Amino acid sequence: MKFISTRGAAPTLSFDEVVLAGLASDGGLYVPEALPKYTDAEWQAMRSLSYPELALHLMWPFVEGSMPRETFARMVNEAYGCFRHAAIAPVKQLGSDRWLLELFHGPTLAFKDFALQLLGRLLDHFLAERGERGVIMGATSGDTGSAAIEGCRHSAHLDIVILHPHQRVSEVQRRQMTSVLAPNVHNVAIEGNFDDCQAIVKASFLDQDFVKPHRLIAVNSINLARIMAQLVYYVYAGLRLGAYDRPLAFSVPSANFGDVFGGYLAHAMGFPIGHFVVATNANDALVRALEGDLSKKPLVQTLSPSMDIVVSSNFERLLFDLHGRDGARLASVMQAFQTQAVALDPVVVAKASALFSAAAIDDVTTCAVIRDVFETTGELIDPHTATGVAALAVAPDGMGEVVLATAHPAKFAEAVQRAGFSEVPLPSDMTDLLTRPERYTVLPNDRARVVEFVQSIMG
Ligand SMILES: *Cc1c(COP(=O)(O)O)cnc(C)c1O
Repeated sequence: MKFISTRGAAPTLSFDEVVLAGLASDGGLYVPEALPKYTDAEWQAMRSLSYPELALHLMWPFVEGSMPRETFARMVNEAYGCFRHAAIAPVKQLGSDRWLLELFHGPTLAFKDFALQLLGRLLDHFLAERGERGVIMGATSGDTGSAAIEGCRHSAHLDIVILHPHQRVSEVQRRQMTSVLAPNVHNVAIEGNFDDCQAIVKASFLDQDFVKPHRLIAVNSINLARIMAQLVYYVYAGLRLGAYDRPLAFSVPSANFGDVFGGYLAHAMGFPIGHFVVATNANDALVRALEGDLSKKPLVQTLSPSMDIVVSSNFERLLFDLHGRDGARLASVMQAFQTQAVALDPVVVAKASALFSAAAIDDVTTCAVIRDVFETTGELIDPHTATGVAALAVAPDGMGEVVLATAHPAKFAEAVQRAGFSEVPLPSDMTDLLTRPERYTVLPNDRARVVEFVQSIMG
């Protein structure tokens, strides 16, 4: 498979190049030039596959040409072999036509493990082949950092440096990162907020010479391999919930639009998905964008912190298709959006609303839904998942409803307690998390000090 930029002016890349690249040189994001399409009979035949078998089958056309199939199969088996549930992505029934798709059985208890367990292995493989060493740099407000660290802790060709805001992530989130004592894992607590961390990382990518001769690598959700891994569970769940018997609506707690874009890819490959519901918290950029208003609002801190964002980067990938895959046209839209709010073409908005609805859910509703779901079903859901349940109010009638449960409630104790629940036990293999030794370095909000630190760890 070849990959092209959404802005039409960057070179076409192969899979290995796109995994190592991150952003395209024209500022766009990479998308597949063309997708494989399957017939109804072919999709239905996939029902007999286990999760790793299905993942291999669906992802292989993306990867083919970059490595032998056996090598990729081994990576997929390792990536999903460390999940706590035999089904990897089990579904749980909440109501007569409503299910939870549980995506939190990976090592760090959030759906990001699905992509980052695989991405760490892909990066390690491609760097080894090139005889190079890579340095991953990322900023995290919680889930991405721990999932990336877990995905890379065994990588021989990668160092990983994750910046988090000092004393501004939850204890569980911090310890999930800082208790990984592998020699290639480096946690930095910046005396500042998440935006300060992100600014340091962004500036580092604009000025990469300081890591030479190594390669600086991004693992944020613009990496195409992450999207690829996230299309699989829509198919896995859809086949089990009767996607061929009646239309299904998937409700997706969303921020950067990476998770729901995985579902969109499955739909674009011909898998029958009736509708997507995009759930946000008070940071409602996606709700406005799907109404045609591409604009920025100040960040609001909510009880679902992994969805606290200002700009939803992967939305550009959907806009590319909605603009007839015309890179030059989209480049001018995105150029304008750099400095001002943009009103999208009504034709584009109409196309989007045929497949997507969206709703912003506030913290009060989030807590009420956590209580309500517990009272009616006995399931304790996390605050991100709760926005997905609440947003089903805007789903079309007559569809089966599937809510993506993106995190385990133990990870977000504050919200769960606010909803009126006391203890949320961690999974049994993690009960000692709060007493494990930690290693991290506190640095001032100063990029020069971070550069010094990164150079020191590279030796
Ligand atoms: C990252 C995250 C999201 C948002 O996913 P996007 O791909 O950014 O839309 C939702 N819920 C949880 C728990 C997350 O960690």
